[in-house]
Amino acid sequence: MVADKILNFINGEFVATDKWFDNRNPISNAVIGQVAEAGKREVDAAVAAAQAALKGPWGKMPLARRVELLEALVGEINNRFDEFLEAECADTGKPQSLAAHIDIPRGAANFKVFADMVKNVPSEFFEMATPDGKSCINYGYRSPVGVIGVICPWNLPLLLMTWKVGPALACGNTVVVKPSEETPRTAALLGEVMNKVGIPKGVYNVVHGFGPNSAGEFLTTHPQVNAITFTGETRTGEIINKAAAIGSRPVSLEMGGKNAAIVFADCDFDAAIEGTLRSAFVNCGQVCLGTERVYVERPLFEKFVAAMKAGAEKLKIGVPDDPYTGMGPLISKEHQNKVLSYFAIAKEEGATIVTGGGVPAMPAELQDGCWVQPTIWTGLPETARVIKEEIFGPCCHIAPFDTEDEVLAKANDNIYGLATAIWTKDISRAHRMAQQMEVGIAWVNSWFLRDLRTPFGGAKQSGIGREGGVHSLEFYTELKNVCIKL
Ligand code: NAD
Repeated sequence: MVADKILNFINGEFVATDKWFDNRNPISNAVIGQVAEAGKREVDAAVAAAQAALKGPWGKMPLARRVELLEALVGEINNRFDEFLEAECADTGKPQSLAAHIDIPRGAANFKVFADMVKNVPSEFFEMATPDGKSCINYGYRSPVGVIGVICPWNLPLLLMTWKVGPALACGNTVVVKPSEETPRTAALLGEVMNKVGIPKGVYNVVHGFGPNSAGEFLTTHPQVNAITFTGETRTGEIINKAAAIGSRPVSLEMGGKNAAIVFADCDFDAAIEGTLRSAFVNCGQVCLGTERVYVERPLFEKFVAAMKAGAEKLKIGVPDDPYTGMGPLISKEHQNKVLSYFAIAKEEGATIVTGGGVPAMPAELQDGCWVQPTIWTGLPETARVIKEEIFGPCCHIAPFDTEDEVLAKANDNIYGLATAIWTKDISRAHRMAQQMEVGIAWVNSWFLRDLRTPFGGAKQSGIGREGGVHSLEFYTELKNVCIKL
């Protein structure tokens, strides 16, 4: 059952406060729970617990035992798979078929991947001759950074939270997590799992609330938080970056995107359509790596647009537990209003609406939900706002191109640089394009294939730093050189 009171998790205990905010289900916008908002007092308590745990059993625990505990977390999340699934779908309205395939299993897998990584990662070693004719040896030793503040978004709540908590704990840190105010449930549920498997008190803490003048700001400005990792909008990332500058604390920022797909006429047409439909519409377009700009080589343009239209119109919009649902609602009324405002802007800017552009007709009990239609536009100039700005909804603009140089210039002409998907059978061109795209991730003939050992992050205003595999060590550990004169 989805609990209707969602509490903070501090020092191994669930903690209520005297300030509550509503938790809504986006399929109907109904209030389905109350969340205890953490104030300064609770954030202070969570940070103090996390600092104490570093000096307690967690800080003294051998790596092998830490790894065992992380592996036990995976088992226990899987034991309670249905509860996590229900909680995630209640908060987000996303199809269960999607959350059962991506959010929950990959949310659990993040603990395993980073447990394996810390078990196996080597350290560097150098020997050097010294002026006295002897020598010294140097080796790299990695210590935890300390208390990590983890600020999370709402689009893949458990998955993107454990993507940070997994490596943080694997490296011996402790965390204070601030889930999105829209999606507090799975972070709270994970607290129960932490207690069940025996993770020491204070290692994992959760404070609920908003950004400014609430838990988010209190956490990121807290002087005892040693580093901050954030996923969310670029605007918010900039504020957090400023907060982290006080005390010169490291940040890892995973931020917005306006990703381009580039489709060459020699591509595998069916694969390109399937991949582009998924990248535009999965999770109702609320994936940072999703495609909102599609460039198609001119000879294929008309056929591609027609197939995308057919695919979008086939998507069944519906509730999470309907196995035929292909697309759920947006996360909130506020976000629905934002996306619909971009639908209006596209019209004003003179777009041809290939499909969608509005709110779908839904049964009476779902009328107040945060629904929008999957939407495709053509015909806009590159300067149009819907081509330049991140919308974060189920929509894309499709434009024709004639040459590689032209499409490269257009695709790179954006403040963001998160991801791209390039569709072609010409292997040289694929490499050429991938290398010249100003992004953190370039997919060729695929989209959203993620090997968690590989670097993940954004170029330009899409992010600072890389996480994933050994790259996470750069952020979650302090690398010390130990020099020994022999
Ligand atoms: P958001 O920036 O609105 O919120 C993210 C988190 O920051 C929330 O927990 C929020 O409460 C908190 N926050 C807001 N203001 C704050 C402040 N002043 N101080 C501290 N915390 C604050 O983002 P969102 O709407 O939850 O998520 C959608 C955005 O996330 C999109 O821009 C998307 O592209 C981006 N995103 C990026 C990645 C990536 O890996 N690059 C992944 C997923 C989502």
